[in-house]
Amino acid sequence: MTGLYDSFQRPINYLRISVTDRCNLRCVYCMPADGICQISHGDILTYEEICTIVKAAADLGISRVRLTGGEPLVRLGLADLVQLLVGLDTIDDVSLTTNGTLLGSYAPILKQAGLKRVNISLDTLRSDRFKAITRSSYDVADVLRGIDSAGSVGLSPVKINMVVMAGINDDEVIDFAAKTIGEGWHVRFIEFMPTAGIAYRTSHFVPVSEIKRRLEPLGELEPGLTQVGNGPARYFRFPGSRGTVGFISPVSEHFCFNCNRLRLTADGKLRPCLLSDAEVDLKQPMRSGISSSELKRLITAAVSSKPLRHRLAEGFLPGDRPMTQVGG
Ligand code: SAM
Ligand code: SF4
Repeated sequence: MTGLYDSFQRPINYLRISVTDRCNLRCVYCMPADGICQISHGDILTYEEICTIVKAAADLGISRVRLTGGEPLVRLGLADLVQLLVGLDTIDDVSLTTNGTLLGSYAPILKQAGLKRVNISLDTLRSDRFKAITRSSYDVADVLRGIDSAGSVGLSPVKINMVVMAGINDDEVIDFAAKTIGEGWHVRFIEFMPTAGIAYRTSHFVPVSEIKRRLEPLGELEPGLTQVGNGPARYFRFPGSRGTVGFISPVSEHFCFNCNRLRLTADGKLRPCLLSDAEVDLKQPMRSGISSSELKRLITAAVSSKPLRHRLAEGFLPGDRPMTQVGG
């Protein structure tokens, strides 16, 4: 068997890289109300260090990477990192997850650097709500500009991620779904996950089954579509629509048995599972001068320690790092 496999024989070929823990928004479901204790600049991996890790991981079997954060576009020179990663012939696909607020100006340079696609997080189409959910002075118009800009330079498909929260934005699922019909958006509805540092109430949770029920007035969903970079989402389409509707159900119907991913935090920890606190440090060993084969051994050890599944249903909640530090 060639490639990278965990101890449950799952192929691991996808690495999500958090390039910063900083963010220009403070989304209620992600960022603790008091903010985070920021990683010091000296502890953040340099772009060269990220590339060294990606090269080693690619030699083992990683072929796709996604840049995330915090907000990746607040890190200076992100397009330079994109260019470095795209230049690695062992990496097939480089993509980005962003809140979209800065994408209006960065989309052309990212495209030029070789970025393929973007996922944009947007949880409301209403200005007042946007400010409340993101606890920022940005406007939903900034994100809409980012979406347009990404589409017009060909960073496609542009996927819109909406975290659905009862009593906060769940009354908008139908408006988002309508955009898949009217404007060809690709919208993914994500179940709200409990993560470290946020005030999570189970009363805010909306299962995918309920989201689907709310979309019934728009017609019957046709199942079975696949998309580039297919991850945990299950995709559907309303009859005749250009866009798609995806559902991501980490809580009500977990997809751990098909999990193919690893996460690299901004301070150089490899995290085999989003919802488990275990991490393997790569930064200190690298800064102490370990060889490429030792680095690969650490990556392989992290992969071997990947748990079979998360334990949210049994009440185990990851406790150490807020989502903005792990990358989502
Ligand atoms: N700042 C970028 C953004 O917002 O897209 C990238 C980082 S963000 C942590 C990555 C993804 O994690 C976003 O799509 C966000 O909606 C998702 N996310 C954060 N907290 C979440 C939670 N508690 N439940 C579900 N998804 C969450
Ligand atoms: Fe920032 Fe993204 Fe978290 Fe919102 S979801 S606080 S934009 S990292």
